[in-house]
Amino acid sequence: MSTPAYEKLELYIDGKFCQGSTGKSQDVVNPATHKTLGKVPHASREDLDRALAAAEKGWLAWRKVSPFERSKLLRKAADNLRARAETVATCLTQEQGKPIAEARMEVAVSADVIDWFAEEGRRAYGRIIPPRIEGVRQMVLMEPVGPVAGFAPWNFPVSQMLKKIAPALAAGCSIIIKCPEETPGSSVGVIRCFHDAGIPAGVVNLVFGVPSDISTHLIPSPIIRKVSFTGSVPVGKHLAEMAGRHMKRVTMELGGHGPVVIFEDADVEHAATLTAAAKYRNAGQVCISPTRFFVHEKIYDKFVGRFVDLANAVEVGNGIEPDTRMGPLANPRRRDAIEAFVGDAVDHGGKVAAGGKRIGNEGNFYAPTVLTEVPEDARIMNEEPFAPVAVMTRFMDFDEAVRRANRLPFGLAGYAYTRSAKTATAIADCLDVGMVSVNHHGLALPETPFGGVKDSGYGHEGGIEGLAPFLIAKFVTQAGV
Ligand code: NAD
Repeated sequence: MSTPAYEKLELYIDGKFCQGSTGKSQDVVNPATHKTLGKVPHASREDLDRALAAAEKGWLAWRKVSPFERSKLLRKAADNLRARAETVATCLTQEQGKPIAEARMEVAVSADVIDWFAEEGRRAYGRIIPPRIEGVRQMVLMEPVGPVAGFAPWNFPVSQMLKKIAPALAAGCSIIIKCPEETPGSSVGVIRCFHDAGIPAGVVNLVFGVPSDISTHLIPSPIIRKVSFTGSVPVGKHLAEMAGRHMKRVTMELGGHGPVVIFEDADVEHAATLTAAAKYRNAGQVCISPTRFFVHEKIYDKFVGRFVDLANAVEVGNGIEPDTRMGPLANPRRRDAIEAFVGDAVDHGGKVAAGGKRIGNEGNFYAPTVLTEVPEDARIMNEEPFAPVAVMTRFMDFDEAVRRANRLPFGLAGYAYTRSAKTATAIADCLDVGMVSVNHHGLALPETPFGGVKDSGYGHEGGIEGLAPFLIAKFVTQAGV
C-alpha cells in the first residue's frame, strides 16, 4: 500500500477552503527527517474578521437546527473521519512524529469523541422548578453559549481540536479553531470531514497564523463568547487573564507533572510495563504523562531495574516505520528542552540510568530516559518536562508519598499501583489532581471527564462534563395571562 500524500494546507472560513489574504505562510517540517512537508498559510486580520463574521452568522443559524439534526450531521463527520483514518493518521505521523499505530489510535478515538458529543448534545436537558405561585412555570433552558475561540496544541492535534469542536457544535455553538502551525495537515483533514458532512458555512472555521496575533484578535472580539485552550501553563494564564478582562467564559487544559506512586505491595512487572508504555507514548509529550515516580524503598531496585530494561528496549525511529515504538520529539524546541532538563538534573547530582542523549544527526530523536537520585530542587522536579524522561525516587511511607506527589502547583493526572483496595481508595482520595488512575492507565476516553486543578487549569473536556462549558442556563418564568 502506498503512503497517502501529505494534506493540501488551507484555511477554512465561511464554508470555503482558502489561502490567507496576504500570502504569508510558514514551513511545516517532518520532525523525523527535517524535510519540508508543505507551507501552512497564515490568517491575516482581514481573514480573522471574515472568520468572526462567519462564526456569528453560523451560530445564529446553527442554534436553530434541532439537536437531533445536529447530531446526525456530527455522526456523518465521524463516519467521514473513520473512512479517511489512514490518510489523516499518516499525515499526523509525518508532521508530528508519533508512531503510526499511535496516530491511528488517536484518529479512531477522535471519531468516537465526535459520536459521544453527537449523542450528548441530544441530552442537554433543562429542568422545571416548582413555583411559589399557582399557574407559574419556572423553566431552566440550556442554550448554546455562542461563538467559541478554540486553541488546539500540536501533541494530539486531532483529538484536541475535536474535544473543542465536537461539544461546541453539539451544543449549538459555532467555533473558530486555531490549530497548531507545526501539525496543520491532520487538522485540515479533519475539517474536510465536517465540510463533506454538510455542516453549514460559518459553523466551523479553521485558522493558522502567529498564535499571539490570533488570540489577541479573537478573544477581545464581542462576537466570541467562550475561549477554550489546551497548552502550557504560562500561555494558559496569559489567555485566561485576557479572557477575564473581556468577561469570556474559559476552559483551560494545561500542563501536568504526573506523580506515580508504586506501593510496596504492587505487582512490579505489571506496574513497570504499563507505566513505561505510558511514559514513552508520544515521546512523553503528553500532559498526563507519568513523570515523577515515587517507589517504595523495598521494591525500588526491582522496579527501577525493570523500568530501565523496558526503556532501553523501546524501538526509536521514524514513526512511519511499522516497528517504531517511539518517534522523534515534535520540534527542535522540545529536544533542546529535554537536553537542558537532563543536564540540569545531572548538575544537581542526578544519575542517568537509561538514555540521556540524542540519537543520530537527522530528526529530533532523543533516547527514552530514566533518571535517578535527582534532588527536589532540580528543574525537572519542578517544571513540566514534556519529554521521554522518567524520574525515579524512593519513599518510605504513605504520608511521605502523598506530600511529595502533591508538592507542585500542577494537578492534572496522578497514578498509583497497589494490590490493596484500602490503599487504592486512600491514594485516590489524597492525590490533589483532577484525574487518578489506579493499577492501569485509563484516562482520556470520550465518555470520561478530563481536566485538572490548581495550575493545570479548569473545566473539563470529555464525559457529560465536556458539554456543559458550551451551554448556558437561561431561566424563564412564565405566568398565565
Ligand atoms: P508554548 O507555551 O509556546 O505553546 C503551547 C501552545 O500554545 C502551542 O500550541 C502554541 O501554539 C500555543 N500558544 C502559544 N502562545 C500563544 C498565544 N499567545 N495565544 C494562543 N496560543 C498560543 O510551548 P510549546 O513549546 O509549543 O509547547 C511546550 C509546552 O506546552 C510544554 O511544556 C507543555 O507544558 C505545553 N503543552 C501542553 C499541552 C497539553 O496537552 N496540556 C499540549 C501542548 C503543549
